[in-house]
Amino acid sequence: MATITPSRSAFLHGQWTAADSAALYGVPDWGKGYVGVNASGHVMVTPGKDPGKQIDLFEVVSGLRERGIHTPVLLRFNDILTHRLREIRGAFDGAMTEQGYTGGYSCVYPIKVNQQRHVCEQIAGLAVELNFGLEAGSKPELLAVLGLSATAGGPGVNGLPIICNGFKDDEFIETVTLATKLGRNIIPVVEKFSELELIVKHAKAYGVRPKIGLRVKLSARGAGRWEGSAGVRSKFGLFVSECLKAVEFLKAHGMLDCLNLLHCHVGSQLFDIKVLKNAVNELAHVYCELKKMGAGLSMLDIGGGMGVDYDGSQSAWSSSINYTVQEYAADVVYRIKSVCDSAEVPHPKIISESGRAMVAYSSVLILDVLGTSRFESNPDLETIEKAVKAETEAPQPVLDLLEAYRSMTDRNLLEAYHDATQARDEAMSLFSLGYMSLPMRGVAEQLFWAICSRLLDKASKKGELPEEFEGLPELMSDIYFCNFSLFQSMPDSWAIDQLFPIVPIHRLNEEPTRRGILADITCDSDGKVDHFVDKRIDKKTMELHEVKPAPGPEADGVTGVEPYYLGVFLLGAYQEILGDLHNLLGDTHAVHISLDETGEWEIDEVIEGDTVEEVLAYVQYDVPDLKKAMRLDIEAACRQGRLTLAEGKSLLKYYDDGLEGYTYLEG
Ligand SMILES: *Cc1c(COP(=O)(O)O)cnc(C)c1O
Repeated sequence: MATITPSRSAFLHGQWTAADSAALYGVPDWGKGYVGVNASGHVMVTPGKDPGKQIDLFEVVSGLRERGIHTPVLLRFNDILTHRLREIRGAFDGAMTEQGYTGGYSCVYPIKVNQQRHVCEQIAGLAVELNFGLEAGSKPELLAVLGLSATAGGPGVNGLPIICNGFKDDEFIETVTLATKLGRNIIPVVEKFSELELIVKHAKAYGVRPKIGLRVKLSARGAGRWEGSAGVRSKFGLFVSECLKAVEFLKAHGMLDCLNLLHCHVGSQLFDIKVLKNAVNELAHVYCELKKMGAGLSMLDIGGGMGVDYDGSQSAWSSSINYTVQEYAADVVYRIKSVCDSAEVPHPKIISESGRAMVAYSSVLILDVLGTSRFESNPDLETIEKAVKAETEAPQPVLDLLEAYRSMTDRNLLEAYHDATQARDEAMSLFSLGYMSLPMRGVAEQLFWAICSRLLDKASKKGELPEEFEGLPELMSDIYFCNFSLFQSMPDSWAIDQLFPIVPIHRLNEEPTRRGILADITCDSDGKVDHFVDKRIDKKTMELHEVKPAPGPEADGVTGVEPYYLGVFLLGAYQEILGDLHNLLGDTHAVHISLDETGEWEIDEVIEGDTVEEVLAYVQYDVPDLKKAMRLDIEAACRQGRLTLAEGKSLLKYYDDGLEGYTYLEG
């Protein structure tokens, strides 16, 4: 028997409360103190984990709407980012003090995780205070980081460590060499031997003593989705034999003192801390050996990979992690300290490149539900009966379905299901053989789904689902159409089945009575979310509230829906930059929200999303040409009387306004 949530608790306590919703959606588990639910059923963000200082997301979205900023909108919370950075700093400081570690610690932010200027500036602005730095993995990123570190932190920022990973050509290394001369604390990490030769060449040419890092190919393997980041078959790094060759090479050029850093990166979202411990242990041994050979080593860079507990389960599972930031820090410090102490080598400065762990929590996407599609459990029997009577000879399977529907009771659910399944199958074969009319096929389908739907309702009221019905809740679940593109806003959900927590941001003091999956507005059938976070099960539908029709039909008789907003959380890492222009749906608006001294939320920055014009230009359309072509075509149609002048004017206006507008639907 499978359990049907959520009505248990409401059933026991009578009244559904916001706390029931918080528990249902696992908010305390994955929210980690940053996200909660208030008594009026709204999602609250607590940027500094200070319960006295909260931001009501529904209020923010309503406020933005009043200002003409529509969903989908990405909310960024700089204060969450700051809090995360301080937490990582604090965890390492705590571990180092406790264990008597003397080498120190810096975190460098790999900007590839989220290169948005506002995000990087926030981090660079805190870098001096926290002794953090930046990491670049490509030429454009290097140029961004060089510029950022020149202006972002004011005086003193020149000391901010800059680590360069990734492939480097002659020009890249020449730039790095000159930046060193400029006074930057920049460390190119050698990924392949030829880079070392270039570094030495330029160092000599410019008379610079560079700081050099080596990325080591460890035998310890990575794990999970990014297991290829480490191990002997990894794309990057030097084999130990090559590291030894590098030592000889540098010695021969009188530059062994320049070998300052050893680096490894075992993968992203390391869900099992064991993997990291093994890698760090191996790297520390290599460090000590090279140090004893006379290398000027002083830094040990353990790469990125500190994970985020997306599903709140705190387990060694791909969308979770089985450790806290504090445990991560304690384990890293402990491993390095033990190896160095027994080798009698001074403690190196530890560097980590924890990108995801820094930024994931700081962004939330808010999207609106446009409408739903669902199976009807109460079909219009009168119409159906009329249709059946109109047939000269009503097909037997349809009569059977009608009978099964009418005679359903709480006690014969299984029997009704079997009868209905059989009759549906018979109906479909009759139709395929040409013995059943299209209207009768329509009736058969309607009745079958109505039976399944009632069956689920009845079974849920009992709180238990017979095994035979187990696939039904998914099959029968609603589809909620949402105003966003999965490919733009949460691409990892599609690419690697990454789970992100999703919660309605209001109405949480109402029981969510529907179950559904989410579909985006791309025309791609992959554009849907049909896996949801849960601590225990692989959850294929989520609980949602009934979408209410907007009060009163509009003039044309079409009824819209009342706003229903969902929040997708923990989107700060990788999603923005990996997002693509599928169906030409562009960047969403992004708004930076913070709290002022009085505890009121305020808007720090609005970064408008792409307009249609912008995305068209990106794929090489000439927008004035498009407009001109449309104008000529409309002119001709008006001349030939296919459009009135007024209609032509409206169409042209719609076209021009559309080009200037948001790529998403603006209800
Ligand atoms: C991607 C990457 C990182 C960041 O990894 P996270 O899992 O986001 O912490 C760090 N270092 C290197 C070399 C990387 O390629």
